[in-house]
Amino acid sequence: MPKDFVPVPLSELKTFTNGEFYDDEFSKGRYSTDASIYQIQPLAVFIPKSKDDVIKAVNFCLNNNISILPRGGGTSQCGQTVNRSLVIDNSKYFNKIIDFDEKNKTCTVEPGIVLDELNKFLKPFGLWFPVDVSTSSRATIGGMAGNNSCGGRSLKYGMMRDNVLSIEAILNDGKEYCFGDIDIDELRINLEDMITKYVDGKYKFDLNPSGSFVKGGPAGDTGLTGRKIVVDAYGPTVPVGGGAFSGKDPSKVDRSAAYAARHLAKNIVAHNLADKCQIRVAYAIGKAEPYELSVDTFGSQKEKDSVVNDFVSKFGMKPGVIIERLDLLNVNYREDTLFSHFGHENRNWEKIEDI
Ligand SMILES: Cc1cc2nc3c(=O)[nH]c(=O)nc-3n(C[C@H](O)[C@H](O)[C@H](O)COP(=O)(O)OP(=O)(O)OC[C@H]3O[C@@H](n4cnc5c(N)ncnc54)[C@H](O)[C@@H]3O)c2cc1C
Repeated sequence: MPKDFVPVPLSELKTFTNGEFYDDEFSKGRYSTDASIYQIQPLAVFIPKSKDDVIKAVNFCLNNNISILPRGGGTSQCGQTVNRSLVIDNSKYFNKIIDFDEKNKTCTVEPGIVLDELNKFLKPFGLWFPVDVSTSSRATIGGMAGNNSCGGRSLKYGMMRDNVLSIEAILNDGKEYCFGDIDIDELRINLEDMITKYVDGKYKFDLNPSGSFVKGGPAGDTGLTGRKIVVDAYGPTVPVGGGAFSGKDPSKVDRSAAYAARHLAKNIVAHNLADKCQIRVAYAIGKAEPYELSVDTFGSQKEKDSVVNDFVSKFGMKPGVIIERLDLLNVNYREDTLFSHFGHENRNWEKIEDI
């Protein structure tokens, strides 16, 4: 299908909704920028006046294979609010406070309300919404939720996900859904329904095998200096997950399994089984055995798969085994991870084993 294929004129939206519709060059130009460097004209702009308008527009796009782009203040910095899509702008008519409970300090708002407006309302009660993004005079609560925004005080008060109790949403299939506290059994049933639709044959399904897991963010994951390894690496050669190394004890596989993967990959190359090697390993919290352990030699393998597999099996990858093999309880992390965690010969995970 051509990139900008639109089978029916989008202006048909005008015939069965009450929202405002714009597809003139000036309006499309106005919505072709956010705070990013991308400048992409939308197909058209729709400004709904009611929930019914939104549902109708979403169904129309679904039936006609048109992508949708919700938009609040448009202050996103990474191009999230520009694309060849139908822009649905919630900021003009969905900016009301629906309900306020002073005693419980909770508020129900429409997605297009701007943060400063919400805080203006809360001020006489001695309250304020604690996610203080610097774009507060433009940013909407809907856009902040979309971006999981943080503010200067997020270490103390948390980010959006810590301050939003529930969201009533219209999904891209036009269905309404309430995201809030979820019953784990209901989630299990829904997920299993979905899995059987897409996965053939046998599978094993673990849902939160360690039980409820609610503590996240800096308090749960890292110490003072723990930052995402992706951020530290500024675009690494090796794809990594989101975890940080620093500040974590080696029972956390973010750290220990990364060291173990390095150890294994280096040994595979050193033992002349391949010229290049990348190890991929995945865990679920609460399960010792990795869910995945795979070896990619990028076509440079020099021995049969069975030889490589046999070699790999000598490197246990359960967290406890890794800690023991690399003696991770006796590492001086402060010293040993200075100027990169990798590449210094005296570290245990850099050693070439005598196998
Ligand atoms: C100078 C500058 C400073 C910034 N400072 C901060 C900061 O301190 N902290 C921070 O976290 N961010 C910051 N940002 C990024 C951005 O301003 C915030 O993330 C802001 O909260 C986004 O709100 P918005 O209403 O402009 O959302 P938009 O940019 O319009 O949208 C954000 C995302 O949410 C989606 N979205 C919008 N509305 C809805 C909806 N109703 N339903 C579903 N999805 C929706 C959009 O599609 C998009 O993906 C900054 C940006 C700039 C330019």
